[in-house]
Amino acid sequence: MRRPIVAGNWKMHGTRSENARLIEEVISRYPADPAAECIVCPPYVYLQEVGRLLRDSAVLLGAQDVCAEAQGAFTGEVSATMLKDVGCQHVIVGHSERRLLNRESDQLVARKFAAAQGKALVPILCVGEQLTDRESGRTREVVARQLDAILELCGVRSLASAVIAYEPVWAIGTGRNAAPEQAQEVHAFIRARIAARDATIAAVAPILYGGSVKASNAAELLAMPDVDGGLIGGASLKADEFLAILAAAGSR
Ligand code: PEP
Repeated sequence: MRRPIVAGNWKMHGTRSENARLIEEVISRYPADPAAECIVCPPYVYLQEVGRLLRDSAVLLGAQDVCAEAQGAFTGEVSATMLKDVGCQHVIVGHSERRLLNRESDQLVARKFAAAQGKALVPILCVGEQLTDRESGRTREVVARQLDAILELCGVRSLASAVIAYEPVWAIGTGRNAAPEQAQEVHAFIRARIAARDATIAAVAPILYGGSVKASNAAELLAMPDVDGGLIGGASLKADEFLAILAAAGSR
C-alpha cells in the first residue's frame, strides 16, 4: 500500500512573514499522525527558517533543486550536503522550469538525483511532456527518455527511495489540469516501465501528479489508482487550498 504524498513547491514566492503565516496555519490544522505525507519546498534562502517553524510538526522539508557536484567552485549553487545540513529530507530534481529555463538535460537531472541520494535525501523526480509533444503523440517517448536517464545512471533500485512526479508542462501554472484519465494513463505507463525492470519496486514507487492541482480537482485526480499524491505549485501557497488537497489525499 502506497501512502499518499502531497508536496508543495513554493517556487520563487514568499517572504519571511508570509512563510511564517502559511506554515503556522498549515501545521495548526495538519494532524500529528496524518494519513498523507506532507512536504513543503521553500526557496533555498528560507529553508533553515522554515525548517525551524516545522519543528515538532509532521510536515517535512524539501528543497527545489540541488547541485550535481559535491562541493567546490560553483558560485550560486547549493550542494546535497548543505541541504541535508539544514534539515531537508527531500529535494525536487528536473522540474520543467529548470529543464526549460536553465536547459537542464536528462543526464544532468540524473546526476542531481544521484547527488541527492548520495546524501540520503529523497529526490522528487519531475518528468513530463510539453504541449507540442502531446499533440504529436510523443508523450510516452518523452517521459520514457526522462525516466530512463535515471534508470541508466542510478539503476531501478534507486526508485525504492525516491518519488516521481508526472507533471505535464502544459498543465503547470496554467489552470488547465490533465484530465484524471490522462494522468492515470501516463502514471500507469511509468509504473509499467519500472515494472519491466523490477515489479516489486514498481508496486511501491510513489508517483505524484502535478499541474494545476487545486482543492476543487484534487479528489478526482487522486482517485486514480496510480496517482499517489500531488506536487502542488500555486495552490501550496494558500493554506486552505493546500490543506484541502492534503485532506483529499488522506481520504483516497
Ligand atoms: C509545479 O510547479 O510543480 C506545479 C505543479 O505548479 P502548479 O500547481 O501551479 O501548476
